Amino acid sequence: MSTFLFDKIVFGPVQSRRLGVSLGINLLPPDGKVCTFDCIYCECGWTDKGEKVGILPKQEDVISKLESVLTDRMQNNLPIDAITFAGNGEPTMHPKFAEIIDQTIKLKQRFYPNARISVLSNATMITKPKVFNALLKVDDNILKLDSAVEETIRKINCPLGDFHLPELMEGLERFEGNLVIQTMFIRGEYDGQKIDNTTEEELLRWLDALSVIRPKQVMVYSIARDTAAENIEKVPLKELETIAKRVKALGIDVRVSG
Ligand code: SF4
Repeated sequence: MSTFLFDKIVFGPVQSRRLGVSLGINLLPPDGKVCTFDCIYCECGWTDKGEKVGILPKQEDVISKLESVLTDRMQNNLPIDAITFAGNGEPTMHPKFAEIIDQTIKLKQRFYPNARISVLSNATMITKPKVFNALLKVDDNILKLDSAVEETIRKINCPLGDFHLPELMEGLERFEGNLVIQTMFIRGEYDGQKIDNTTEEELLRWLDALSVIRPKQVMVYSIARDTAAENIEKVPLKELETIAKRVKALGIDVRVSG
C-alpha cells in the first residue's frame, strides 16, 4: 500500500473546500508516524512504535518556519485562511504543543488575524490539563470518535497505551460543546476480524454519545487514499449522508466528506 508522509514541518498551503487556503503544521517526524493510535485506516501507514519520538521538531524550528512562510506569503499578497495542525501522527503528543499553540496564535494575530487555527487530534491526550487548555484556545478543536463501543475502537484505532472509552467520553464532555467530533466510517476485515462501525447498534451507541457530548459540529467521512491495512472499504457517500441526517435530527450541525 502506498501510504503518505508529510516531509516538512510547515506544508502546503492546500486549497480546501471547508477551510479555504490552509497551511499545515506537522509536529511529528518527517520520516515516520508517531501516534497514540495505530488506526487500520491511517493514510500515513503504521505507527512507529516509539523509536521516532525523540526526534520531534524543536519548538523554535516550528515557530521560525511558520513565521518565515507567513512573512513570505504576506509580502506577496497571498492569502491564508487557516493554519491546521495535522501531519504524521498525533500533534498533541509534542511536549511543547501548548507553547506552540500560544506562539501560533500570536503569529496569526500579527500576519493573518482572520485565519482560523485548527487542530486534528485523536483526543487521547485530553486528560492532560495543558493539552486540554491549549485545545480550548483554538478555533476548531477537531477530535476523533470513530465508535462509542470500546471493542470497536480497539479494532479500528488500535490504541497503543492505556485507553479507556469512559475516560475519553468524560474528557470530551468537559469541553462543554467547544469541540468538533470527527468520525471515520469504514467496513472491512483486519487480523481475521470483521470491522464495521456502520451497523445499527454502532450508530445508536455513537448517536447517544453525541447527544451527551453535544459538539458544535460533527464531521463524517470515509477513506480517500490508501490505508495502513488492506481490505478496508470506503463507505459510500449516500450512506454517510443518511448517517448525517440522524446527527442533524439531534440538533447538531454536521458535515459530510465523501
Ligand atoms: S489517530 Fe490519526 S494519525 Fe494516528 S493512527 Fe489514527 S489516523 Fe493515523
